[in-house]
Amino acid sequence: MNIHEYQAKRLLKEFGAPVSEGRAVLAANEAEKAAKELPGPLYVVKAQIHAGGRGKGKFKEASAGEGGGVRLAKSPEEAAEFAKQMLGATLVTKQTGAEGKQVGRIYIENGSDIETELYLSALVDRGTGRIAFIASTEGGMNIEEVAEETPEKIITVQIDPATGCMPHHARRIAQALGLKGATAKQCGKLIPTLYKAFVEKDMSLLEINPLIVTKTGDLLVLDAKVGFDPNALFRHENILEMRDKSEEDPMELKASEFDLSYVKLDGNIGCMVNGAGLAMSTMDIIKHYGAEPANFLDVGGGATKEKVTEAFKIITTDPAVKGILVNIFGGIMQCDVIAEGIVAAVKEVGLDDPLVVRLEGTNVEKGKEILANSGLKITPADDLEDAAQKVVKAVQG
Ligand code: ADP
Ligand code: MG
Repeated sequence: MNIHEYQAKRLLKEFGAPVSEGRAVLAANEAEKAAKELPGPLYVVKAQIHAGGRGKGKFKEASAGEGGGVRLAKSPEEAAEFAKQMLGATLVTKQTGAEGKQVGRIYIENGSDIETELYLSALVDRGTGRIAFIASTEGGMNIEEVAEETPEKIITVQIDPATGCMPHHARRIAQALGLKGATAKQCGKLIPTLYKAFVEKDMSLLEINPLIVTKTGDLLVLDAKVGFDPNALFRHENILEMRDKSEEDPMELKASEFDLSYVKLDGNIGCMVNGAGLAMSTMDIIKHYGAEPANFLDVGGGATKEKVTEAFKIITTDPAVKGILVNIFGGIMQCDVIAEGIVAAVKEVGLDDPLVVRLEGTNVEKGKEILANSGLKITPADDLEDAAQKVVKAVQG
């Protein structure tokens, strides 16, 4: 789960990290008052969407004015004008895709005098099973590009969970960032603060790009992106409250309501599978036969008829889907229940695309019989390979 920049900054501030003063606003008429509460004299108006690259982004609507999703204002009145232009408009950045994202919240922040922009992030390194800090002097830009072109400018510091964050970790990061004197000392405080926030809040990613050094030599978190481990959210009610459902993929949101694991992908073959491992191999075999899956969808071990119907609806409402492969192994789940679910779903939502069904396991004969007698145009398949070949052929003509 991700949160907005202003929420991430509020959270980091609670742990004692240095962030600027700012106000989040939901309506244009709150903006001027919010800006007037800040010290000034410069104000930065920032569109809050769950995507980066806002500064270099562009709005679709001409009414949103020139400039991207991060704008510098010289007065509270100008800040309010920018907020009014951006609210409700659609911001397109490198990370949003061409369709962009509608701006529903604005963050008005005090403007900073920037000396240098640095990059700092923390993540879970799955290779070592440790939290790692990534630091670079090349802040404010696309870190993927820096990694590609000048990888020597990125350093990684792994934290051993047995010792936790130690002063030498922070010293190495300060050195990599080229910090000296009082600024390096501030870094010595910031790193353990961030580590503590990361661990206590079960974060999966904490990215500060940029972390700045101000003209007075102070460190300041100027942008913050935070993601949380979804499996740990049950113990963080106050984080769950920050969830902004309007930022999430509507189909993924619907799937989560029915407790289905669904991830939208770029291909055109919709998959409905039970079990994450089987779902992965189904995707692999579709790719093996030259096509691309439109989604990952695991209906789970004990799916009911209703769950199967909802899963089916989610797949068929995706306009990219040109064919559907249902691949079910009836272990705990019974094939006849699945078959009934499929028939009910097709009758309810209709079916324009070819549908290939492979059933195996408990009550498989009963399941196949239900499908065969349904009068629906369903292509049965005997095994995984047969199923994948049939659906790929049907989609590719
Ligand atoms: P994004 O990464 O989505 O483009 P950022 O928050 O990183 O958004 O802002 C982009 C750039 O705008 C920063 O790299 C920085 O140069 C400038 N900026 C952002 N916030 C402030 C601020 N409070 N004061 C001065 N400049 C800012
Ligand atoms: Mg940024």
